[in-house]
Amino acid sequence: MTPGRSLAETFRRLIASTGPISLAHYMAEANARYYAKADPFGAGGDFITAPEISQMFGELIGLWLADLWIRAGRPEPAYYVELGPGRGTLARDALRAMKQAGLEPQVHFVETSEALMKQQLGVVPQAQFHSDLANIPFEGPLLLVANEFLDALPVRQLLHTGEGWREVMIALDSERFVGVPGPQPMDAALPEDRRNEPEGTLIETSPASAAIVHEVAARLVEQGGAALFIDYGHREPRSGSTFQAVRRHQKVDPFEAPGEADLTAHVDFATLAQVAQAQGCRWLGTAPQGEWLRALGIEARAAALGDSAPRHREALQSAVHRLTHADQMGELFKVMAVAAPDWPDGVGF
Ligand code: SAH
Repeated sequence: MTPGRSLAETFRRLIASTGPISLAHYMAEANARYYAKADPFGAGGDFITAPEISQMFGELIGLWLADLWIRAGRPEPAYYVELGPGRGTLARDALRAMKQAGLEPQVHFVETSEALMKQQLGVVPQAQFHSDLANIPFEGPLLLVANEFLDALPVRQLLHTGEGWREVMIALDSERFVGVPGPQPMDAALPEDRRNEPEGTLIETSPASAAIVHEVAARLVEQGGAALFIDYGHREPRSGSTFQAVRRHQKVDPFEAPGEADLTAHVDFATLAQVAQAQGCRWLGTAPQGEWLRALGIEARAAALGDSAPRHREALQSAVHRLTHADQMGELFKVMAVAAPDWPDGVGF
């Protein structure tokens, strides 16, 4: 890639010389560029994630993992693994809560953005970095968390045209990027039970997310542990596009400036639960975030924090609202937990 050239320009040249690229390719390159650049989080950035709203989010996740680990018989060594840790805030809060519960795991981060790795190391100095799961140690159970990670992974869109199923490709309409059906039959890429859906149906799949969950599940079966995947998405299979871009807290056109906005798609939790179970994992459940956090006692935690710092009471109440209310993050966001076959059930499912 030529330094200084915008990704839009790189894509235009690529499409002009070799033809349309898949939406998945477009999304993968755009997000790699986007996350490599800088810090997109927080009020001054493009979007705010749950751990940036309140320390309670990471703490409750840490307590959930510690509770499971204690009931699994406190196996050592244990590895805290986080996929796409952002600013490192969730890990910091979770590790502090785990420590109070007697759990001090080794810390392994899967991250590809150099800029974010630096920030994460500032917050969690003991973290070891990986670009994928391959070199994460095998000697003990994994306590794995991925918050708003899967939604950033590329999706493939399959469209039922008059000629059968086709993948949505990105082509050029003069200078503009537009989605067009590709030339190859893609029926084989579709889940078998969905091939007969009517003409005009669009189905998103995320082979990259399925591959990650597949690998995590295989590891849990082999070495023990549990994983929490938290993201916006649905519990039942759906159709239609959920591909979108967010910049400065606004939805923007995902084809406007690739690499400068966060590209996301909703997570298909039903499929991912099946992927994990097919590996032999236990699916502990998929719950709306609001319900799950309330079951873990977020309201009592907010009250306790408010008692020790009364001037923060209002901010704590507003954080609980944002994290749990149906109009905020409470319904659209889901928490899915999977665990090794001999690990216990988790709270909140
Ligand atoms: N979990 C954080 C950040 C979510 S944003 C939070 O809740 O605040 C997505 C994170 O995943 C970023 O850290 C980004 O750099 C990382 N990421 C995106 N695609 C990735 C990939 N393919 N491999 C590893 N990390 C990736």
